[in-house]
Amino acid sequence: MKNNRTDEFGRITIHDPDSVTSWMSDGKCRIHPPAVFFPSDGAGVERAQAICGRCPVAERCLDYALEFRIEHGVWGGASERERRRILRRRKVDLSTADQ
Ligand code: SF4
Repeated sequence: MKNNRTDEFGRITIHDPDSVTSWMSDGKCRIHPPAVFFPSDGAGVERAQAICGRCPVAERCLDYALEFRIEHGVWGGASERERRRILRRRKVDLSTADQ
């Protein structure tokens, strides 16, 4: 079921609570240019992470990026390198759990 919402700037946003991406409409990044979350240097990563640090859906955002193996950008406050590290650690955890 879809519900249209109006954000703090009066823009109408489409909200579909059944969608796998419905949480995105609550993300702090929606009021920033997308390029902020695809930085080219460490300072840019820190800037994006500061925004993610105040985001109410950061946990879901990180889960989404990990589940869909999104390689680029800052998601859920985690850089590309940090997400690769999390995925490697999970892989190791799963392989040792089988033993
Ligand atoms: S955690 Fe960051 S990238 Fe994810 S929705 Fe929130 S602000 Fe956007």
